[in-house]
Amino acid sequence: MSDRRLYNFSAGPAALPLPVLKKAQEELLCLPNVGASVMEISHRSKTFEAILDAAEANVRSLLNVPENYKILFLQGGALLQFGMIPMNLLGGKAADYVITGSWSKKADSEAKIVGKVNTLWDGKSVSYKRKPTDAELKLNADAAYAYICSNETIEGVQFQAFPNTGNVPLVCDASSDIFSKPIDISQFGLYYACAQKNAGPAGVTLVIIRDDLLDRSPDTLPSLLHYKKIAEQKSMLNTPPCFAIYMVKLVTDWLQNDMGGLEKVYAFNKEKAALLYDTIDNSGGYYTGHAEKEYRSLMNVPFRLPSEELDKRFEAEAKTAGLIMLSGHRSVGGLRASIYNAMPREGVVALCDFMRDFAGKNG
Ligand SMILES: *Cc1c(COP(=O)(O)O)cnc(C)c1O
Repeated sequence: MSDRRLYNFSAGPAALPLPVLKKAQEELLCLPNVGASVMEISHRSKTFEAILDAAEANVRSLLNVPENYKILFLQGGALLQFGMIPMNLLGGKAADYVITGSWSKKADSEAKIVGKVNTLWDGKSVSYKRKPTDAELKLNADAAYAYICSNETIEGVQFQAFPNTGNVPLVCDASSDIFSKPIDISQFGLYYACAQKNAGPAGVTLVIIRDDLLDRSPDTLPSLLHYKKIAEQKSMLNTPPCFAIYMVKLVTDWLQNDMGGLEKVYAFNKEKAALLYDTIDNSGGYYTGHAEKEYRSLMNVPFRLPSEELDKRFEAEAKTAGLIMLSGHRSVGGLRASIYNAMPREGVVALCDFMRDFAGKNG
């Protein structure tokens, strides 16, 4: 066994930036001038309060979050939000859902447990290879909200622009593309992401919600499911996931200070994705991608070889070459390279070289 770090293409929990892990390692036993680890101090201490405030300030500045939005740090992952969103926002009305892949499909079925949902579009008929066009979406003007997933992690399809929902608040699951490029938060009523793809470790979920929507939370909800009560207590209704929040602070510090903000991150991500998609497109059909070109994700790149047997051999040999976690999601098979912010350009170059070499030997 070796403790060498390899190029890790995991879809989530996913690779974290090395400088972030090093900083966490440095401070693991003792935060500077505190005498204990962040995992060992009161969440009501000035030290932890400052960490939470800094994480929130970083998120606000990176995403340019307007004043009239709250930023919450919750537990339960994205899946709990599939339930909390309808619980808090439906108000006895129906919501519009757009199904563009596995995660929005799951969100749609969870919401149906809670209340009324109109499934506006289901990309099943196009094998989840693209997003709907605006003309295909017959939005309901009286919907409680409209729901989309900005980047389908499993199918690798991404919205390049969002539907205009007028007065109906747009809710977006950005679990796998938050912080990957600049985004105008004011187009959304609620924008959320679990951390373990592109924002930190598992255990914390960011919810960015417009103030007026907080008034919809019904009093029949337990406090920990109630956005407004959580917002009023600044995500400290009970013990928050302190270590995970600390890690989000370090990741957002890194995005801001080392990477130079989201414009630069976006350019970096476009360059990495182009290397990989060009390798697929120039393989003479040896590798096939999933999404239609216009809807290709910059974050998750699923692809197949000419046979399942070759998929398996590719994965095994890639692992030996130091390229790990390349298997596709169990629901779709094939391979998938997730190339989030923390994936260095060298990792993508190494994968592309390996792909060309493998195709040459096994073509
Ligand atoms: C990973 C993922 C989820 C599920 O996240 P959990 O935190 O495991 O519940 C939901 N939506 C998207 C887009 C994801 O990538």
